[in-house]
Amino acid sequence: MRNPADSSTMNSGVQARAYAAFDTTSPLKPFAFQRRSPEKTDVQIKILFCGICHSDLHWVKGDWGPQTYPVVPGHEIVGRVESVGSGVQKFKVGDLVGVGCLVDSCRSCVNCQEDEEQYCERGGTFTYGSRDPRGGITQGGYASHIVVEERFVLRVPEKLSPAAAAPLLCAGITTYSPLKHWNTGPGTQVAVAGLGGLGHMAVKIARAMGAHVTVLSTSTKKQKDAERLGAHDFIALSSERDFAQAAKKFDLIINTISASHSYDAYLSLLKKNGTMVLVGLPGPQPVQAFSLVGGRRRLAGSLIGGLRETQEMLDFCSQHGIAAEVETVKPEQINSAYERLLKNDVQYRFVIDLQEI
Ligand code: NAP
Ligand code: ZN
Ligand code: ZN
Repeated sequence: MRNPADSSTMNSGVQARAYAAFDTTSPLKPFAFQRRSPEKTDVQIKILFCGICHSDLHWVKGDWGPQTYPVVPGHEIVGRVESVGSGVQKFKVGDLVGVGCLVDSCRSCVNCQEDEEQYCERGGTFTYGSRDPRGGITQGGYASHIVVEERFVLRVPEKLSPAAAAPLLCAGITTYSPLKHWNTGPGTQVAVAGLGGLGHMAVKIARAMGAHVTVLSTSTKKQKDAERLGAHDFIALSSERDFAQAAKKFDLIINTISASHSYDAYLSLLKKNGTMVLVGLPGPQPVQAFSLVGGRRRLAGSLIGGLRETQEMLDFCSQHGIAAEVETVKPEQINSAYERLLKNDVQYRFVIDLQEI
């Protein structure tokens, strides 16, 4: 069978050692493939750490539709520059860098021109599982190396620990972008629904932006952690009564919940003119018109962030001393980390140490 990572331009590239999924149910297994040899504006990165996002799990399991296998997941990548093409201007060998969810886009549509490549009208090229304009499909960061054009490479401040910085490349930007877009600041009543990888970053970032932050969780188990992470309040929501008691409290809800739940119930927690932003991506879920109409409420969504904003977020996190709370795992522990993530048993992001893969 042809290796989908192969293309004519990749023949002399570095041999990457990786972990890949081969179907929706089998454990991820070691996989070797060739990265393209760096072209003029490419940066070759030796990967140090890669976070495990719940999106990796959705993707591998086919929750969002059929995928192409084998696929190497991973889009929270931090590493050091190993070599650069002759035209690279921003980076040099040894720099600490990051790669998030995007490795290419059309660069000419209105959204790319506005530095919002995540909404590229021709469809951006995602770090894994996307059709690569150079051939084959893209392969992500559970690997020893990656080659990415410099425009899609981020500078990671040396002040941040590389392992704890990795989740900023997805969990960080996915929560920073809507918090900023909806003008979070002093006086904003922000609720973070779901205290997982994205949720714990949302708490830290919203707090640093000056908001009053409440965590909405499914039990009281994470209450102490929520306070330590910077939340002012914590509400466990397990009954209709719990929702009724928290009604009409919030200007903005960042909803990071990964599993099916009632949007109507969470919308009832918004004040008049409040907005609930979906960043979590569970399956289809109905919404009652009455949940929105009653308080002129809005239901919105947000997808990661563009390159310019991702760099801004990394610098913001460095200035405020913010990074993820991570549990580092070895590559051979990826499958048990997936099982634990499904059981909500993670504090608060698994990060794979790829230095020795
Ligand atoms: P995660 O670490 O597994 O966190 C998800 C959280 O959801 C859990 O910690 C849990 O919080 C809550 N939860 C789980 N099941 C629930 C249920 N049945 N009802 C209510 N709450 C429940 O996942 P993650 O990596 O943060 O990702 C979260 C979601 O965001 C995923 O769907 C992922 O695909 C998506 N995502 C979207 C983007 C984007 O650009 N929009 C980017 C990255 C990820 P508690 O324990 O506090 O209840
Ligand atoms: Zn992600
Ligand atoms: Zn575009």
